[in-house]
Formats: sequence, structure tokens, C-alpha cells
Amino acid sequence: MAQREVVGRFAPSPSGRLHLGNLFCSLLAWLSAKQQGGRILLRIEDLDPARSKREYTDQLQRDLEFLGLDWDEGGCGAAGPHAPYEQSLRGPFYEQILSRLRRQGLVYPCFCSRAQLHAASAPHAADGEVVYPGTCRNLSEEEIRRRILLRDPALRLIVPDEEISFFDRHYGRCSQNLARECGDFILRRSDGVFAYQLAVVADDAAMGITEVVRGRDLLSSTPRQLYLYRLLGAAPPSFCHLPLLLAPDGRRLSKRDADLGLDALRARGFTAAGITGALAYTAGLLERPVPATPRQLLPLFRWDKIPKEDIPLPAGLFDGPPF
Ligand code: GLU
Repeated sequence: MAQREVVGRFAPSPSGRLHLGNLFCSLLAWLSAKQQGGRILLRIEDLDPARSKREYTDQLQRDLEFLGLDWDEGGCGAAGPHAPYEQSLRGPFYEQILSRLRRQGLVYPCFCSRAQLHAASAPHAADGEVVYPGTCRNLSEEEIRRRILLRDPALRLIVPDEEISFFDRHYGRCSQNLARECGDFILRRSDGVFAYQLAVVADDAAMGITEVVRGRDLLSSTPRQLYLYRLLGAAPPSFCHLPLLLAPDGRRLSKRDADLGLDALRARGFTAAGITGALAYTAGLLERPVPATPRQLLPLFRWDKIPKEDIPLPAGLFDGPPF
């Protein structure tokens, strides 16, 4: 049987400048796809209008290009077989997906406020997420009609009391019982914005993505996404999660770490290859932090070189070019 062509993706959210952790994920997604002779698609995850800015979209495309992390399909305003590639323009498509789930009788309106949810349930021990206790699952039609006059509901998906297991290429066998560890989850927020879980599955499936490489912070979303693939009758991609990069003091990197952003690094004298080389060294692909382009790293890339634990950036490494 012919092997499926590998299609990986960059799926950045334009809610700030990309930080080194985002670039690290993009680099590894690129290396993995390209080493298998595959392609990369760029999708802009600008679902949330309050947090997304067009200037960040433009900037993140420039940042990826600057590092030599090119893509074969997609990007802002791009034509192509799966256009549009901005999630903010794909609302009608998500509506269709939502209708399919509704027809399966698995979607219900939820009127709980964030404050009520936090008060009502114990956080899930593993990652501090709240397990939704199913408060609105069995409201009568009449109750729904009454409440809808007072408040716009979110829409939730009923999940099964079942272990969903999968094999992560980096972390191995993982599993989660959705009913016990997550609860019915949101497909569309009360303000009408589609949830990440729905959009990412709908798009990865529609855009023919065969491999998802992303940070370990999304590992616990994967069982929810696999359940959606099942309901939609779509073949899931392979999943490969990555350790997170930590600031030298052990904090998770965030878009607020401006001194570790590309502009600051360039101002301190880093070239694109200097940054990529330092990232590859941090990831265990290079023995020393020497300049390297993504293409030069291709023959050196192997998943088993990448640590499983989160990776603190070596102190001083990004203070200035070491070479
Ligand atoms: N848009 C998400 C982010 O920037 C990534 C989603 C994904 O890779 O599934 O964190």
C-alpha cells in the first residue's frame, strides 16, 4: 500500500510575538516533516478576536521566514486547496462540523459561569483543569428556553466514561478517561467563539495533516481531540509532543519574555543560524551551540535525542552569540 504523504503544520496563535518555545516547536515540526520528505502547512489560529492581532500574524510569518522555517501551503491570505488558512475566516465550516455533532445528539447548551464552575468542582489533580460536573447536561427544554432569555449559553460535548488511549511518538502510551478527568467540554463559547478543540480537529482533518508536533502543554487535549476524530469519522494524525522550554530560572517561557524574543536576540547580535543552532543545542541535536540552518540540521535530527523533561535554557546561552 502506498504510504501517505507526510503533512506537518505550524499552527501559531497570533496573540503576541513568537517566543523561543514556539520557535523550538516550529523547528522540530519542520525537521520531522522534511526529514520524511513531507510538507508543512501554516494555519493561523486566530480564533479568539479579543486576543489575536493582524500585526502579530504578519510578524510571526516574518519570524518563521527569517529562521528558514518555510512552509509549502497556507499562511495569511494565501490561496490553496484548503484556503482560507486563518481560523477567523472558517466559522461557516466550524458551524457545519458543529451541526454534525448536534445531529448525533451529543451537544447541549451550558449556562454555567466560570465562577460557578470553579466553585462547584475540584480541579483535576494532574494539570489544575476543572472537571466539568455535568451541571447543565439534563436541563429540560423548558428550562433551556427560560435560561436562554437571560444568558447566552456555551455548547458542550457529552464525553464517554471510557479510557481514550493513544501512542505519542515521544512520550509513548498515554491515556485519559474523559468523563472522569475532563468532563463534557466546550465546543463553542457563550460569546459564539468556537473552541480550540473543535477548530483544531476540524482543520487538521480537512487540511490532510498527518502529523502534529507541538508542546507537551497540549498533551492532555489529545484524548478530547481523538474523541472528536472518532465522532467525525476522520483518521487522526500521529501526535508527537515536545518538552517545554523553560527560562533559566525554571519558569515556562511566555509571549511576555521579550528579552528572549527574536528582536531582542537580533539586537544582541544573533543571526538566524545562530538562533537555530542555539535552539538545536538546547534540544540535544548539536553537541555545541554552533550556527546551523534548519536544512543543515536535517541529517542530525532524531526524536530520541530530544529530552522528555522540560528543558531549562542554559544560563547565558541567549545572552549573546557564543561563536
Ligand atoms: N495554536 C496553538 C498554540 O499556538 C497550537 C495548537 C496546536 O498545535 O494544536 O499554542
